[in-house]
Amino acid sequence: MKYFILFGPPGAGKGTQAAAMVEKYNLRHISTGELLRKEIAAGSELGLKAKSLIDAGALVPDEIVEGMIESEFKTVKGVEGFLLDGFPRTTEQAAALDRMLAKTSEEVTAVVSIMIPDGMIRERIKHRASIEGRADDASDETISNRIATYHEKTEPLTGYYRNTGKYNEIDGTGTIEEVRSKIFGLMDRF
Ligand code: ADP
Repeated sequence: MKYFILFGPPGAGKGTQAAAMVEKYNLRHISTGELLRKEIAAGSELGLKAKSLIDAGALVPDEIVEGMIESEFKTVKGVEGFLLDGFPRTTEQAAALDRMLAKTSEEVTAVVSIMIPDGMIRERIKHRASIEGRADDASDETISNRIATYHEKTEPLTGYYRNTGKYNEIDGTGTIEEVRSKIFGLMDRF
């Protein structure tokens, strides 16, 4: 199995690009944000726990998302691999992922990182708020906290993956089509 990580700040276009990537390369898209929003919509205990953290722009505990990921790995069949979107988000989660894959002598195939500047993060999220109506896109304070959380907890992962030689960065400031064709050019190598 191939294990691709789609990396980047909130609003970089991960979800949009993921849809095209999974179709072209026969991958299963796993978005931890989407899985968490489903739990919230279902009113589960896990969803209840996650909601206040997500609405505050904080991260949910590592164990919760790690459990979700591992159960997806175990149940999904018939694909070439997985496209992880929104996971790992901390160096602890990256280490947990490596341990999970090591159990079956597997490893991360490549990291595809879509980068945009902070100013564009706000613009993109505001635009999305008017379309998708996500609670965590609605308030400026939540958006600021998500950007801060990204820089503090998630951005250091670039160093983690640069050290493994698996890190690939794509400029995410172009149009959807421009970014997509850059991503496809990169993915074709794996
Ligand atoms: P975005 O890409 O806009 O940041 P996501 O849909 O990926 O949005 O995530 C929404 C929220 O879900 C995050 O702000 C965070 O609170 C929570 N979340 C998603 N993935 C993780 C993760 N791997 N670890 C911890 N929290 C997560």
